Amino acid sequence: MSDEFTQLPGINESGGSNVGVTCVAARSALHYHDKEQPTRWDLNVYRGCTHGCRYCFARYSHDYIGSGDFFGHIVAKSNLPGLLHRELSRSSWKKEAVNLGGVSDSYQKAEASMELMPEILKIFIHHSNPVLISTKSDLILRDASLFAQLSVKAEVRVAASIITSNDYLASLLEPGASPPSHRFAMLKAMKQQGIKTYILLMPVLPYLTDTMEHLEAIYQKASKANVDGILAWPLNLRGQVKPAFISFLREHFPALVPLYLGLYDRSEVTGPYLKSVMEIVAELRAKYGIGTIPRFKTGKSDEQQMSLF
Ligand code: SF4
Repeated sequence: MSDEFTQLPGINESGGSNVGVTCVAARSALHYHDKEQPTRWDLNVYRGCTHGCRYCFARYSHDYIGSGDFFGHIVAKSNLPGLLHRELSRSSWKKEAVNLGGVSDSYQKAEASMELMPEILKIFIHHSNPVLISTKSDLILRDASLFAQLSVKAEVRVAASIITSNDYLASLLEPGASPPSHRFAMLKAMKQQGIKTYILLMPVLPYLTDTMEHLEAIYQKASKANVDGILAWPLNLRGQVKPAFISFLREHFPALVPLYLGLYDRSEVTGPYLKSVMEIVAELRAKYGIGTIPRFKTGKSDEQQMSLF
């Protein structure tokens, strides 16, 4: 499967500092799913992610490639530009918006040396195809001019995933990602290029980031960066996420473990807790005049492809 293996600094599941990158040839570029959010089409340049988020929901995606180290073993699909051009050229393709990510961050550490995204963006520019992307890295600014070029021809949305404005807390929760202060600066710079910008305030973490004060700090900075919308939702502890996050709490916030075990008898929060968080969000939306993220309006494509890579 692999034709190249390199090492780069990062973080992995076992706390080590080396990350391995394997280059593979993918069979297709676009991946169809039926979730509708934010679009039905994903393009993942990488499998695995060096950001190392303690609440990462995407770990399961490494099960398909038989590797358990989601944060330490990165798979790069180096042939995607050619595949993408072929798929976007098909007469059945209806220029639906493509999410540049889904189960990984396209601007994680590996991208600094792999430089796959500029070629991918040039293909989207050639086809005037709308895209959206969410990232926790300001490395995306390297390609700001390409996003700006595409935004003249098609809708472009750049979102930063920001769950706290506290750089220290973020360094515990997302040890491989850019500090939130850099992500706000990235959003401001992208907006200045005429690109629509958003924040994914997900997950809101019970007892850690769910107070009015904590959430308002994000809305305040978002307002200064002139972002177009914020989508907020509390933590989901589905599958492998629950033991991983409880283990993180035991290490850094042990007093919260019993509170979490009491709140999460199911994988998601409901009832009064959910209501209280969403009431805070509604109040902040009204106060700062920042709405949520609207859906893309694009036609359905005739083809639906499933791909492993
Ligand atoms: S950025 Fe997303 S995919 Fe990457 S580690 Fe964090 S939650 Fe997982």
